[in-house]
Amino acid sequence: MTLSTSSANRKPVFVLVGGTGDLALRMLWPSLAMLDQDGFLDKDLRIISVAREAVDRPAFVERVRAAVQKRIGADLEATTLDQFLPRLSHIALDASDPQWGAKLKAELGEVEALNVVYFLSVSPSLFKPICEHLESAGLSKAPNRVIIEKPLGRDLASSKVINDSVAHAFDEARTFRIDHYLGKETVQNLLALRFANTVFEPLWNAQSIDHVQVTVSETVGTGDRLGYYDDYGALRDMVQNHLLQLVCLLAMEPPSNFNADALRDEKVKVLRSLKPITADTVRDVTARGQYGPGFAEGKQVAGYEAEKGSPSNTETYVAIKAEIANWRWAGTPFYLRTGKTLPSRTTEVVIQFRPVPHSIFGSAAQPNRLVIRLQPDEDIKLTVMNKAPGLSADGMQLQPLDLSLSLQSAFDGNGDKPPRRRIAYERLILDALNGNNAAFVRRDEVEAAWAWVDGISAAWAEAYPKPQIYPAGTNGPMSAYMLLDRDHRVWND
Ligand code: NAD
Repeated sequence: MTLSTSSANRKPVFVLVGGTGDLALRMLWPSLAMLDQDGFLDKDLRIISVAREAVDRPAFVERVRAAVQKRIGADLEATTLDQFLPRLSHIALDASDPQWGAKLKAELGEVEALNVVYFLSVSPSLFKPICEHLESAGLSKAPNRVIIEKPLGRDLASSKVINDSVAHAFDEARTFRIDHYLGKETVQNLLALRFANTVFEPLWNAQSIDHVQVTVSETVGTGDRLGYYDDYGALRDMVQNHLLQLVCLLAMEPPSNFNADALRDEKVKVLRSLKPITADTVRDVTARGQYGPGFAEGKQVAGYEAEKGSPSNTETYVAIKAEIANWRWAGTPFYLRTGKTLPSRTTEVVIQFRPVPHSIFGSAAQPNRLVIRLQPDEDIKLTVMNKAPGLSADGMQLQPLDLSLSLQSAFDGNGDKPPRRRIAYERLILDALNGNNAAFVRRDEVEAAWAWVDGISAAWAEAYPKPQIYPAGTNGPMSAYMLLDRDHRVWND
C-alpha cells in the first residue's frame, strides 16, 4: 500500500490506544520521540493517547517525558521533548463504553480531513470492541490504518477470529501486523545482503549450505507474564512469529520487486512449504523443555512449576528441525531453538556452508560459516579459511578468519560516529505513518505459520505431552542436543 496524493493532503494523526501501558512507555513513546528528533514526523502530526486510566494532561506528559528519558538516555537531544510533548494529548476511554467512538471522534475533529494511524497497544481481546467502535463512528475508513501486534491468537482458529474482527473495519492493505523483529536493522539487512549482492545468492541453496541454525535465547524466566505464558509456551510465543519470520527472510525466493505484496508472496510460499510435523515424527524432530530449579541471571530460580504453584506441561524451551520441501532447500534443515533461563541472551542465525568437495589441506579446512547476530549486538560475520601468516616447518598452516560485515566496522577507523541503534518500533511506526506495509505481516502469513505450528502442538499432545526438565541457567534439555547429534551436527554455542 502506498498513500495516495489525496490522503497525503490530509492532516496526520497517530492514535495510541493503550498509551499508558508497559509497551507504550518502554517502546512506543520513546520511538515516536526519536522519530521526531530525527525529523521524520510531519510538523502537523498530532498524537492522541487513549487508555482506561484518567490522567490529566500535565501528569500524562510527565509520564511520557520520564519514559523517553529513561529509554533514550544520552542520545536524547535537549530540544527534542520541547518539540515532541506539545503534540500529545490523552483521553480516558474504557473500551466497554458505548460512546468510545463518538468521544474519540470529538477529540479528533473533522475526520474527513485526517489521515489517522491507530496503534492498538492493548490486549487482543479488545481489538474487536475497539474496531467496532471505530467502524460505527466512521473512523476506520480509508486512508486510516491500524497497527496490531502479537499475540494474534493461540492457534489458527483463534487467530482467524481476531483477523476477522479487525478485517470488518480495516481491509487487509490497511492492517499493519507488527512482528518487531522485522523492524530490526540486521533483519532488514538480510534482504540487502541476499538481494543486493551477487556473491551470496548463487550459494544460497541446498547445494552449498549444509544447514541453518536460528537461535533466540533469553536469560529471563517468565516473570510476571507467567499467567499469559502458561497458556502459550515457547512454540506459540516465539516460533510462530519471530523465528518463522526469520526463516522466511532466509529461505524465500528473490521477489520480483521491493513492494510489499511481492515480498510477502514469497514469504508465504516458504511457510506453506514447511514439511508438516506429525505424531510419528515429532519426537525425532523436536525437543521440548521446561526450566526446573537452578541458577539464572545470578539468582536462584525455583523452577517453572514452583513459580506457577501447580503442575504444568507448558514448554519454556523448544528446538525444531524444520524442513522446507522445495527445490532450493530439500536436504538442508533449518534448526530452530528458543528458550528461557538460558545462559545468554542471544539472537543469532548461523548459515553453515558445506565443506570443500576435496580438501588438499586435510581436516584443517573448516567449512565457511556466516553468522548473523541480532542480539546482544548487531553484527554479520563471515568465517573464511586463510593461510596462517608466517613460516612453518610443517608446511602451510590454515586459520579461520572472521570478516565482519557490520555497519559498526564500516564506521570504525575513519572517525565517524556509528549510527544510533534504533528501537525496532521506530522504523515500523515510520513505515505505518507512510503507508508502507512491506515490513508487516500479511494475514495469509500469520495463518500459514499457525497451520504449521498447530500441527506440532497436536503432535505433542498425542506423542510428546511432557517437556523434559532442564536446570535453569543451562543450555536447555538434553533432547535439543540429541536432535542435532542424530544428524552429526552441533549447535553453535
Ligand atoms: P499493559 O497491561 O501494560 O497496558 C494495556 C493498556 O491497555 C493500558 O494503557 C490500559 O489503560 C489499556 N486498557 C486495558 N484495558 C482497557 C479497556 N477495557 N479499555 C481501554 N483501555 C484499556 O499491556 P502492555 O504490556 O502494554 O501490552 C499491550 C499489548 O501489546 C498486549 O496485547 C501485549 O500482549 C502486547 N505486547 C506487549 C509487549 C510488552 O513488551 N509489554 C511486547 C509485545 C506485545
